[in-house]
Amino acid sequence: MSAHDPEALAAYALGALDSEDRGAIEAHIRDCAECAAAIRSLRRVTGALALAAPARTPPPHLRARVLHAVGADARQPGSARSVAQGRAPWSVNWLPMAAMLLLAVGAGIYALRLQTRIAGLDGRLADAVSQTRAAERATTDARRVADQAQSAMAVLAAPDLARIDLAGQPRAPGASARALWSRQRGMVFTASNLPALPSGRTYQVWVVLPGGPISAGLIEPDVSGRALGVFRTPPDIPSPVAVAVTIEPAGGMPAPTGERVLVGAP
Ligand SMILES: [Zn+2]
Repeated sequence: MSAHDPEALAAYALGALDSEDRGAIEAHIRDCAECAAAIRSLRRVTGALALAAPARTPPPHLRARVLHAVGADARQPGSARSVAQGRAPWSVNWLPMAAMLLLAVGAGIYALRLQTRIAGLDGRLADAVSQTRAAERATTDARRVADQAQSAMAVLAAPDLARIDLAGQPRAPGASARALWSRQRGMVFTASNLPALPSGRTYQVWVVLPGGPISAGLIEPDVSGRALGVFRTPPDIPSPVAVAVTIEPAGGMPAPTGERVLVGAP
């Protein structure tokens, strides 16, 4: 008899094992919570089935054959009674009921184990999906950084590159920044010592043209106050008269509304 054997567990729950096998099962379930739980549920099933099974009186000819087979004389009611008294009253129905139970509990245990395995597979599938998503995010991040680096290199290599240094204003006297701008290729903007922002606010970079400022884009400083932005600017604009950084509501504004943090002219 092997450990975790559903048929052995069912036979044990039915009380159909000899003492040696019963001992083996009892020894096993002392250490195996899974099989102990299976037996508890099997016993609930056997109890319920015993109540559900209709009580049957065996037909007279079966009784006669059984009594003949065990060597009793069917014509002697006394002998028949003594045979019947030797066994529990339900013993005649024991075999079909045990077969039914074995089928029922076997299917139940199989379903239980299947459920456990499906739950395990579900968990592994969820892990695989989240790993795939993490890999996709990493790929997207890497692509964005590569695109930014490529744009920045194109700007830095532009033949019409102009450099504009920005100085910190009273709101951030220690801050400084540099804008490298090409009409054809856009702007690389670096800043340092930017103060941390209150939540719901962002730094916005403006290219100030003779007709007024246009937004270049938003920058987000890291914990040390450094920020890098690589922006496209419209290729048909005149040369900027200044570059400035203001504090604006998150998401940015179409025109500057907030305090100037950095300002510089070519
Ligand atoms: Zn077990």
